[in-house]
Amino acid sequence: MKTIAILGSTGSIGTQTLDILREYPGRYRVSALAAGRNDRLLEEQIREFKPSVAVLYDEEAAARLRPAVSDIPGLKVLSGMDGLIEAATLPGTDMVLTAVVGMIGIRPTIAAINAGKDIALANKETLVCAGHIIMPLIKEKGVSLYPVDSEHSAIFQSLNGEPKERLSKIWLTCSGGPFRGKKRSELEHVTAADALRHPNWSMGKKITIDSASMVNKGLEVMEAHWLFDASYEQIKVLIHPQSVVHSMVEYADGAVIAQLGVPDMRLPIQYALFYPDRLPAGEERPRVDFYKLGQLDFSEPDRESFPALDLALKAGLSGGSLPTVFNAANEEAVALFLQGRISFLSISELIASAMEAHNNTADPDVDTILAAEAEARQRVREKAGT
Ligand code: NDP
Repeated sequence: MKTIAILGSTGSIGTQTLDILREYPGRYRVSALAAGRNDRLLEEQIREFKPSVAVLYDEEAAARLRPAVSDIPGLKVLSGMDGLIEAATLPGTDMVLTAVVGMIGIRPTIAAINAGKDIALANKETLVCAGHIIMPLIKEKGVSLYPVDSEHSAIFQSLNGEPKERLSKIWLTCSGGPFRGKKRSELEHVTAADALRHPNWSMGKKITIDSASMVNKGLEVMEAHWLFDASYEQIKVLIHPQSVVHSMVEYADGAVIAQLGVPDMRLPIQYALFYPDRLPAGEERPRVDFYKLGQLDFSEPDRESFPALDLALKAGLSGGSLPTVFNAANEEAVALFLQGRISFLSISELIASAMEAHNNTADPDVDTILAAEAEARQRVREKAGT
């Protein structure tokens, strides 16, 4: 039996990962569960999965959790970044699943790799900001990095066994989100509730807003660049409203290999957890019914209505600390949008202005990344007048 630590266990990916562990009992023991502030759900998870370490980043939430679980012998309840790092580096843990939301994942992910853990990575923001640190470290430490993002899992599956030199293009598919087909003028007054209505996927709030703005696809382009050592010219974003083709790889000879499936994160999660096995999924798990599917549509993204895609490309091509600014400005702007304090279109405008104002630093270390993050967040708050 392998051992897993789950960072972000109370979120959309975290809870689906625990569903997978329930579905395939006896494969993984849980060594640590970590979350932000949801002490109630974390307590339930602790009682069911019996980790030796539990973390709530928020100190007050951790203080609520401690007395609630004081009857559990040997359980350590930690908080803050130190707690996340301890959870990510516990001796005896084989794999760390990083499913926290946002750049908070950088330090624990790096610590886990340094401690020799394999990584199942959902937290794309980490790779976007620190891919230049993480990818060489993965090699140096001889650990494995398994993508959890459905598109990257699809690319990983489609690349399986082929040497990198044969790769010609990556076709990164994208549903287009709730505002697909809308012109910029039609997006002026959309609300958070409108943006949270994703047509195909049920996900955490932040990534759902990122999907509506196409920031998510921009982050995924950068994630694919790092994961598959592909140039930005090789990565093509393709609108595919049905979300059945999760992404494709085109080879030098023109052959295209794709991975298809219903939009259900449990498949990429279990592929990452059990790689290279393909464990049979039960009858209750939905499958593609090609008789009923009818048609699959593909089109080019509308870069005018969704400027975040080109901003991401600019950030990725420039490299250095600019991807961090793209990401951090977005995190801050999304939080403001969710609070109803800025408009939807302001998200990409605020990202653009933070990027413009930034003095890019090449090859930033973690401290420089975090400084760029703080600067971008501050710029967004100032510009938004909040
Ligand atoms: P959710 O918002 O649903 O969950 C986020 C998780 O992170 C929660 O467990 C939350 O804890 C925890 N968290 C938040 N802040 C902190 C913190 N400071 N310290 C520790 N834990 C924290 O997000 P998702 O599950 O949707 O997304 C997680 C990551 O996976 C993101 O990077 C996203 O881009 C990526 N991803 C998600 C997909 C999806 O289908 N949801 C698909 C592909 C990638 P709490 O509940 O206590 O706040």
